Amino acid sequence: MAKTGSLTINSENIFPIIKKWLYSDHDIFYRELVSNGSDAITKLKKLDVMGEWQKPDDLEFKIEVITDSNEKTITFKDNGIGMTMEEVDEYINQIAFSGAKDFLEKYKDKTNEDQIIGHFGLGFYSAFMVADKVTIDTKSYKEGAAPVHWESDGGTEFEMEEGDKEEFGTTIKLYLNEDCLEFCNEYRAREVLEKYCSFMPVAIYLSNVTAEPQYETIEKEELTEKDTVVETIVEEAKTEEIEKENGEKETVEVSPAKEKYKIKKRPVAVNDTNPLWNKHPNDCSEEDYKGFYRKVFHDYKEPLFWIHLNMDYPFNLKGILYFPKLNLNYDSLEGTIKLYNNQVFIADNIKEVIPEFLMLLKGVIDCPDLPLNVSRSALQNDGFVKKISDYITKKVADKLTGMFKTDRENYDKYWADINPFIKFGCLKDEKFAEKINDSILFKNLEGKYLTLTECLEENKEKHENKVFYITNEKEQSQYINLFKEAGLDAVYLTENIDNPFVGYLEQKNENVKFLCINSDLSDIFKEEVTEEDKEAMKADVEALTELFRKALNKENLEVKVEKLKNDNVSSMITVSEESRRMQEMMKMYTM
Ligand code: ADP
Ligand code: MG
Repeated sequence: MAKTGSLTINSENIFPIIKKWLYSDHDIFYRELVSNGSDAITKLKKLDVMGEWQKPDDLEFKIEVITDSNEKTITFKDNGIGMTMEEVDEYINQIAFSGAKDFLEKYKDKTNEDQIIGHFGLGFYSAFMVADKVTIDTKSYKEGAAPVHWESDGGTEFEMEEGDKEEFGTTIKLYLNEDCLEFCNEYRAREVLEKYCSFMPVAIYLSNVTAEPQYETIEKEELTEKDTVVETIVEEAKTEEIEKENGEKETVEVSPAKEKYKIKKRPVAVNDTNPLWNKHPNDCSEEDYKGFYRKVFHDYKEPLFWIHLNMDYPFNLKGILYFPKLNLNYDSLEGTIKLYNNQVFIADNIKEVIPEFLMLLKGVIDCPDLPLNVSRSALQNDGFVKKISDYITKKVADKLTGMFKTDRENYDKYWADINPFIKFGCLKDEKFAEKINDSILFKNLEGKYLTLTECLEENKEKHENKVFYITNEKEQSQYINLFKEAGLDAVYLTENIDNPFVGYLEQKNENVKFLCINSDLSDIFKEEVTEEDKEAMKADVEALTELFRKALNKENLEVKVEKLKNDNVSSMITVSEESRRMQEMMKMYTM
């Protein structure tokens, strides 16, 4: 007897809501259905460990995803725990009810800005975002459990009856909506699986029933029980005729007869079930880290160094953060932090969890304890999330200060690449700034990397409590030469971030003044102008004033001419520190 019932949700139909809700992230159903299969297998593995069930020796736990572009279907098949009819009733039929209420509640006052569910999944029912009809065939692992067949066409009705599935596990089949046929294309399927499921803990195999079958030929010794032999190839022994010393001919065997097998190409899992971040740092080699970086970020440049996060208490968090080499060609500082929940990809760069400045890095973070079923705005206010992000920040600061203390040589070498990141961190995060403060470096005219203290100490006789800096090496080359000749020092602060950063430095170090190399240089280069000088310069001053007024088309421009000590320089223009900083600010705003 078939049992029928309705998936009523007080008033409205859940499916249009799901479809509308998740519009931007249609592909997420792949993640949800595969992770349900993975959960089902994990449960069964647990029962095995607890001794409540025994895994047959020849059983390989796996999830199969089969696309069929003729039939326009996608099938998700797992050999996990399965469900009895009561369980389907409870977990599938009921969820629709409670879940829907939940969605409706959230839906009420949400704008498109805050589409949390799109990222954090809504489980089995996400299948209806792309499918007109969904069937479940499931059989519980329990001794004697009856198989169940369930189907629903995305309306408010479902139908459930005894099925004919023979092995335990669950098979879910999606009959795709005409608008979503892309998802049964094998390439598209692979792309989506790689995005969400690359590191799931159970092997995932993708195949396409309509694709041409593929074969490979192997040696006899390589054959395993799992292979499907389509042809046995017998290679006869090879012989050669040779002439002996006495002139007689003899036939010798050069290679023996052997059997080879043509087999169906062995499936290769889409995913890596034991990602590097799960391993103990002691078990990971430099090549492991670099290889993982290449694979995940498709970055051909090697990372500078990395931090392996590995924490069990008071929360569970694992991950690897890489410091990338700056890509000066594109001048882009955009990194990527991929967030995972129990090896299931959630999203890139979730700013509620990862401090903004850390997104300049590239990395993966897996935090099974994250409360991902709540909205993003709730995450933002979650004390636990704050702790996670503080922990990550602390680890990064510790790594950097540790390197500064124990491996200054490399730290100096990396400075050019990591300085924008550190400076951004100082501007954005007080705690980070506090920790990193003494490990901020300045590259000087000699190419040495100095801390502020070292810099002030070295130059205290020449210009006390003043740091001269270069913002543009090319444009300011004349000034640089001047400085060198005069035996003075200056530091390079040439990144975009340096303009706000100089302001920050002055705030932090009240008695230190930062001056651009082309700013007012009164004490150092100017000679006092006597009354006599003034008289002698008068004609020149007038001519210059006239010239600049004309050139800049400003009638009232005031031109001040002063006397340089240095005879090698015929003239120089200075820009006051304040007006230059202001200009830079304006540039930033209009960019
Ligand atoms: P969630 O996974 O968050 O619990 P879902 O809507 O994805 O929500 O799934 C609801 C429930 O249905 C699961 O908790 C599980 O009990 C059951 N279920 C779904 N898919 C499977 C499956 N492939 N095998 C066994 N049980 C499943
Ligand atoms: Mg689920």
